[in-house]
Amino acid sequence: MINIEPIEAFSDNYIWLVTTNEGSIVIDPGESTNLLKILNQRSLNLKAVLITHHHFDHTGGIDKILSEKSIDVYGPNNNIDSINIRVNNESKINLLGIEFKIIEIPGHTLDHIAYYSENNGHPILFCGDTLFAGGCGRVFEGTFEQMHDSLSILKKLPINTKIYCGHEYTESNLKFAKSVEPLNQRIISRYNEVIELRKQGIPSLPSTIELELETNPFLRVGLKEVQQEISKKFNTSNNDKDIFTAMRQWKDNF
Ligand SMILES: [Zn+2]
Repeated sequence: MINIEPIEAFSDNYIWLVTTNEGSIVIDPGESTNLLKILNQRSLNLKAVLITHHHFDHTGGIDKILSEKSIDVYGPNNNIDSINIRVNNESKINLLGIEFKIIEIPGHTLDHIAYYSENNGHPILFCGDTLFAGGCGRVFEGTFEQMHDSLSILKKLPINTKIYCGHEYTESNLKFAKSVEPLNQRIISRYNEVIELRKQGIPSLPSTIELELETNPFLRVGLKEVQQEISKKFNTSNNDKDIFTAMRQWKDNF
């Protein structure tokens, strides 16, 4: 059995805690206070830290964790010194009996990676700030083309893949999605569902690749209805990358 739970951090971050009968791992601990409290209260045995990219709200808790536990920190090649095991596209890591494949997905940052596991037919993906529920991360360091390519890799994962991303942005993402595709009933109903969940303080995650393919405009740039809307509004070509770029820039100012 695998248990995956969110630990809320800052205003809208999620730190993901994964536990099996072999222990626990944590993904992107931007801070450590709540995490350490939970580990102690429940006597969980933390085995490793996994990092998706260098941003402080995903890494700021590492040093405090390491001051209490001597464990490995996995992550991409970047400026975070406390990462002691560097991983890349070729890497496979086995933790808690789960085999994770590393997928390089630059765009939001240049170092950004995701952790994917087939998990015996119940695939899971930890994708930091690249693919969000209903949207995608801002392009800070890479190019729009890189971000589009990275999302194109993720969208080919099995449709039942559960998506655990780094922020609770779903409501505002879907508000934007409704503007891109005003007639998409699936987006409208998902938006209403998410508003209800958030009213009750329930996370809108995990999502799935299937749900994102239906409702995330950044995974739908190849579709006629999306192309028409964007190319008309911004006078771009129908090329997927141009549509993606115009859409991402629109979202930046939305
Ligand atoms: Zn980030």
